[in-house]
Amino acid sequence: MPATEPAAADPACFSTRQIHAGTTPPTAHPVTPPVHLSAAYEFSSLRDAREAFAQREAGFTYARTGSPTVALLEQRIAQLEGGTGAVATASGQAAIALTLLALAGSAGQHPDGRAYPEVRAGHVVASSRIYGGTADLINDSLAEAGISSTWVDPHSPAAWEAAITPRTRVFLVESIGNPHGDLPDIGALAEIAHRRGVVLVVDNTLATPYLFRPGAHGADFVVHSATKYLTGNGTALGGVVVDTGSFRPEHDAARWPQFSAATPRFGQVPLVERYGSGAVLHLIRAKFLHDLGPCLAPWNAQQILAGIETLDVRVARHCQVAEALAERLLVHPGVLQVRHPSVPGDPNAARAARDFPQGTGAVLSFELEGDLTVVERFVDALRLFKLAANIGDSRSMVAHPASMTHCRLSPQLRAAGEITEQTIRLAVGREAPDDLWADLEQAFAAAGLAGNDAADSRQEVEAA
Ligand SMILES: *Cc1c(COP(=O)(O)O)cnc(C)c1O
Repeated sequence: MPATEPAAADPACFSTRQIHAGTTPPTAHPVTPPVHLSAAYEFSSLRDAREAFAQREAGFTYARTGSPTVALLEQRIAQLEGGTGAVATASGQAAIALTLLALAGSAGQHPDGRAYPEVRAGHVVASSRIYGGTADLINDSLAEAGISSTWVDPHSPAAWEAAITPRTRVFLVESIGNPHGDLPDIGALAEIAHRRGVVLVVDNTLATPYLFRPGAHGADFVVHSATKYLTGNGTALGGVVVDTGSFRPEHDAARWPQFSAATPRFGQVPLVERYGSGAVLHLIRAKFLHDLGPCLAPWNAQQILAGIETLDVRVARHCQVAEALAERLLVHPGVLQVRHPSVPGDPNAARAARDFPQGTGAVLSFELEGDLTVVERFVDALRLFKLAANIGDSRSMVAHPASMTHCRLSPQLRAAGEITEQTIRLAVGREAPDDLWADLEQAFAAAGLAGNDAADSRQEVEAA
């Protein structure tokens, strides 16, 4: 490398040069996404800065509301979901929280779009068989923010319609339910939602756009915990909300004042007027991400981008390994029930065949035969399966939902979600099925549950 000659205008002092020397833009064109680690973005004139801050012109200002690496991730996920745009967040929880605040928060209840403490917020109808963290968010933090909710069976569209109140703004459901692999009829829920002026938000974390694209079935917004299969190796946390382009708040301006009314916050110009179909994402980014601050770090965005490059082969492998284990668990005498759409007789099998030709993901649950002592012995004996609350990692993981992910749920909600003391969740990784099965078998043995030989002889007895 030739030594760089200081330009004539270079500052003379070391302390200034150690900060400013060598800041000319690189001419390199890296083939992989670079990590843009800069909190702020420079403007070439005060006019440009003024227009960007007033949100009359697009541009990066400060990395809380966007940066080039994060923007690339947003474009890639929006593209894979068939959406019109996306906003990335620090975690899946943040993506769900910001989406619900924008669509059902109290800002939407006042004619000039402003929130007043005495104004009640909207109402959310949500699937009772949902990730425990989402249940916490809705039951506690969002409830405190005035957003009310009703939990309903994801398999009963009529129950969703019956739960609608004049304040209902959002239906929230998972395309593949955690932990039982429920596959609700997204098309039926979308039809009800749209007929009644409600927006359908689908959490597509367990499916990823490789297995299922909710937008093609009528979902208006798709949210993800990118922490899981999109990253694919259990390293980075991240989340994203995708607009599929179907929700047009200007068609019912009175119902959606936060998008259709002029507010001081956005220069007295309604968001739908300035941003058209991008109004919702703009409110999420420019208000909630800006004010509350759960932004995705550029490092994490780069990790997630790298993960997405292998999404199809990874998810196909996850599905294949999970199906192999489900098949073997099904005939094990220590197992009362296996829940995974690939299992013959599973209530979700028909929808799986229709809508999930590539597989139904790698989260499965089963009911162990025995009391909590047996459950504890089984879980503690596992070696390859890590006892950890995550899914979508390369490594297989085991969880006891009643003690872990779903521990804060009310007894009623836990019952509605069919989470018992005997429910074991497996988040199947990408190891060899035989090694994983050997680990499960030794754990069954350690828990005093008979092995496969006994299962075979029991089947023979039943057949006789
Ligand atoms: C993990 C998870 C979330 C929350 O995402 P984080 O990235 O952990 O905040 C939301 N929904 C589902 C289905 C999840 O599995």
